[in-house]
Amino acid sequence: MYKVNENYLKLPGSYLFSTIAKKVSEYSESNKDADIIRLGIGDVTRPITKTVIEAMHKAVDEMGNADTFRGYAPDLGYSFLRETISKKVYEPLSVKVDPDEIFVSDGAKSDSGNIQELFGADNKIAVTDPVYPVYVDSNVMAGRCGTYDKDTEKWSNVIYLPCTAENGFVPAFPEERPDVIYLCLPNNPTGTTLKKEELQKWVDYANENGCLIIFDAAYEAYISESDVPHSIYECDNARNCAIEIRSFSKNAGFTGVRLGYTVVPKDIKNDGASLHDMWARRHGTKFNGAPYIIQRAGEAVYSEDGQKEVKELISYYMRNAKVIREGLKDAGYDVYGGVNAPYIWLKTPDNMTSWEFFDYLLKEKNIVGTPGSGFGPSGEGYFRLTAFGTYENTLKALERIKK
Ligand code: PLP
Repeated sequence: MYKVNENYLKLPGSYLFSTIAKKVSEYSESNKDADIIRLGIGDVTRPITKTVIEAMHKAVDEMGNADTFRGYAPDLGYSFLRETISKKVYEPLSVKVDPDEIFVSDGAKSDSGNIQELFGADNKIAVTDPVYPVYVDSNVMAGRCGTYDKDTEKWSNVIYLPCTAENGFVPAFPEERPDVIYLCLPNNPTGTTLKKEELQKWVDYANENGCLIIFDAAYEAYISESDVPHSIYECDNARNCAIEIRSFSKNAGFTGVRLGYTVVPKDIKNDGASLHDMWARRHGTKFNGAPYIIQRAGEAVYSEDGQKEVKELISYYMRNAKVIREGLKDAGYDVYGGVNAPYIWLKTPDNMTSWEFFDYLLKEKNIVGTPGSGFGPSGEGYFRLTAFGTYENTLKALERIKK
């Protein structure tokens, strides 16, 4: 009999969002008139903008013409997109990222899940806690996380870096040295960020201790404060120790069309091995390139009109974030995030657990959010609301909460 990858069997049961979906569907079955407002999942709701759609239409037409048809895309991405990213994303930050250090992909989830293939089998990872669950789960699948303790909800071979109201959501350096450190900034789910000087300390720590940083900047477009870095490469010597992952999902609304990229600087070397060359090898073997039509759409995001439209999208969501943040504060909640990110993180009232507060909001207010404990043990006692709903629904939800 063949054997399965038993690491998959170690993953604890139902995924957070399927549990939420089940609870919501059970509730609506027995409360058919309930007007449920969903401020739970991190998917966008605004359509893709005009300039980007036009670029897609043009690319579709090219695909239907023998003279302009394109087959397989280059594994690492079309140079028109990689050059545009280098020029429009990194040059304005005065950061050096060459086009051939940019690997275009079908999104940040794939990249943040796949990047662990470059790590040694016994490498120890550190994650900020709470955080996007993909980092830990993908390392569990690769057999790198040890055993799961149901009581503490922790993996024995993972270093957790708690980020809570007590430490201002700034993780402390761990007592034990990790090999790889995942940082997600601005953070999903807390919506908080690190200032440049705080991030610089992590870069220095990584360089001094021989660690690799995986920096997930999927929410970079939401940064509004000037002392928050948009890229880890704004920090000195980050090119020696950091890989940066970006997405077109949350800035340009590409969650349904799929596009992202990862920067692997050529300067990251370990014992003579180049992570850049390894990631290129991995891409070449396992990925046949993001679709031409979507890469043209990605290029259009950086056109003058595309950038204006992206700014409007972000403003739309950030207006929601402000409504949620201020509404919750008025209602007496302790609230975090929502300034540089579309996520608002709140402390549950009256020492409720995250799931107790989920049930309360669903049943008493007909609002769906996400229990903080689903993002890691330090998320217990917290709750996430997202700014990705419509403005009207967001206003309505906050009126209900304030009542
Ligand atoms: N990284 C973080 C931190 C996220 O929150 C998400 C989506 O919610 C992703 C990556 C996934 O991005 P993409 O849609 O590009 O796969």
